[in-house]
Amino acid sequence: DPNPLLSAQRQPEDADAALRPKTLAEFVGQAGAKDNLKVFIDSARSRREAMDHVLFYGPPGLGKTTLAQIVARELGVGFRATSGPVIAKSGDLAALLTNLEPGDVLFIDEIHRLNPVVEEVLYPAMEDRALDLIIGEGPSARSVRIDLPPFTLIGATTRQGLLTTPLRDRFGIPVRLNFYSVPELERVVTRGAGLLGIGIDPGGAQEIARRARGTPRVAGRLLRRVRDFAHVGGDGTITQGLADASLTRLEVDALGLDAQDRRYLHMIADIYKGGPVGVETLAAGLSEPRDTVEDVIEPFLIQLGLIARTARGRCLNDRGWQHLGLTPPGGSAP
Ligand code: ADP
Repeated sequence: DPNPLLSAQRQPEDADAALRPKTLAEFVGQAGAKDNLKVFIDSARSRREAMDHVLFYGPPGLGKTTLAQIVARELGVGFRATSGPVIAKSGDLAALLTNLEPGDVLFIDEIHRLNPVVEEVLYPAMEDRALDLIIGEGPSARSVRIDLPPFTLIGATTRQGLLTTPLRDRFGIPVRLNFYSVPELERVVTRGAGLLGIGIDPGGAQEIARRARGTPRVAGRLLRRVRDFAHVGGDGTITQGLADASLTRLEVDALGLDAQDRRYLHMIADIYKGGPVGVETLAAGLSEPRDTVEDVIEPFLIQLGLIARTARGRCLNDRGWQHLGLTPPGGSAP
């Protein structure tokens, strides 16, 4: 990633924790998801049962981890977090599951990256709240079934389609998270500025919100970077002018696209004459994993209508040509 400061992907020095809302009421946006979750949380609480398993899916930085923590807090149960690639062996998963308290939430981030052997262990755990373990080897091996406490699995993934069908089918509550509107992100920025003790006026909040790629995590990162400029160049308050100048210096353009987004668009325009071009070809040209292209770069460009995914590959739309200030080979923009 050419500009890790702006990336929506998780960073090792995860500064996100400070900005995490702690209740559903504090969580901005995603109204449909929140309304449904509230019903399931209230119902589980009143029945004094574990809530059904939940799958959150959507691009990185939209609040999947945050919502999982909120669900546990509102249920009044414990929260354990892990991620798909970290659970190497079925024994690791068995240890996690057998250590849960009744009703706990187990959060598995990047659940599509579970090892298939581990995933098999998860099926009976989710369905029957039981573990089937093989003890011993060869002819003397036998299977034992261990009962588990009732628990809620919350999985997170970038795209629902990345999950195998048997895993997907075992989530009673699939919840899709969408990009945030500019007014929603303004609230995220204003709230974040308050928590971090940063002075910002409404114009400054709006400018950051407009250029945050529809993503609260990016909004938080941009807020911190613009704050640095406010201390160095300004009087400490983030105004629209200061936000605009700072973001332009950070190579975040008027639509919120960063250098990587523009490299992607230029590759389709300049090398493939607007497409169609296959995603593998684009990923190779950008030296990015295909998953990054599909899960991080493309969803927002599609949301803005700059590109289209077609059966034959990716194409630049008229709006995409316009944004680059280029004229399509046979056509009309800009
Ligand atoms: P994901 O798990 O989808 O990658 P996170 O839950 O880690 O995303 O959220 C990333 C950052 O954005 C966190 O700092 C979080 O506090 C903030 N955030 C996400 N959603 C919201 C929201 N709806 N309101 C306020 N802040 C949010």
